[in-house]
Amino acid sequence: MEKKPTVIYIVSDRRSGSTLLENILSKSNEVTSVGEMAMLHGHILKSGPGERWNWNCSCGEPVKECIFWSGIIKDTYQKDPLVFNTNIEWSFKAKKFLAVALLPFIFKEKLLGILNAKKNKDVPRTLNLLYTKIFAQTGKPFIVDSSKDPLQALSIYKSQRDFNVKIIWLKRDLRAIAVSKSRWKELNVKKKKTIKKILLDVFYYRRICRAVSMFIKGDDILRMQYETIAQQTQQQLDTVIEKFGMNSYTAPEYMFVEDDHTIGGTPNRFEKRPITYDESWKKAYQNKKLLYFVGGLLNKF
Ligand SMILES: [Zn+2]
Repeated sequence: MEKKPTVIYIVSDRRSGSTLLENILSKSNEVTSVGEMAMLHGHILKSGPGERWNWNCSCGEPVKECIFWSGIIKDTYQKDPLVFNTNIEWSFKAKKFLAVALLPFIFKEKLLGILNAKKNKDVPRTLNLLYTKIFAQTGKPFIVDSSKDPLQALSIYKSQRDFNVKIIWLKRDLRAIAVSKSRWKELNVKKKKTIKKILLDVFYYRRICRAVSMFIKGDDILRMQYETIAQQTQQQLDTVIEKFGMNSYTAPEYMFVEDDHTIGGTPNRFEKRPITYDESWKKAYQNKKLLYFVGGLLNKF
């Protein structure tokens, strides 16, 4: 019997290196890297995040015309647009998440209520259909989806399917994420938040990831740290390879998009950059010693 194919789903916060990790994994000849599948629906409709690149595929074409996606969209979305939905809707600021975030060990079951909501019920079915089409179209045994969304990961993990789902939970120092997000917001959002406030949000989000991780069997989840990936790329790649049964290959030294057809991601993903570890975020805490300390403690929870 042939081995079942595998979807590797990266769960993380924004600004945590998921694009880097996806990029490293995409260099395997067994892997199809799809970017953030959660954003495919928005890219088809040209609405929501993605305006900056006109919701195009990373090849530069609109998804409906792209050589990779057009056939897949024709067989799925165009057949039945009303039940096509790639994105689990949830607001992490909703009150019901507070208990989950504070005490994930006790309240994790609350997450299942979100997945069963009417607006989300088509998502796992749609994604299963898409993954199955992609496996058939490429003949490659692995898909890497860097959608990042913990609840989306859970919805796929818990669904009926003919392929394996493996989760990589990618973490980064909460303090670094907060600084990166605050810089990002300075560029893109008018309403500013203090680093302290962002740091608490980042912590909160991580707790929800943690609650989700409790549903995943040990064999199916790999916890990784961005800082380690950036500094020991080959060794970290070998861990993924071994855990998920891939063929071994050499880690790239640069981050670059080749002829991939990926959805979403950070706009600067097209620049070719060396894979290095950057600690410049620490400067933002020079006058915030207490926050730096507290953030360090929060990292441990
Ligand atoms: Zn494309």
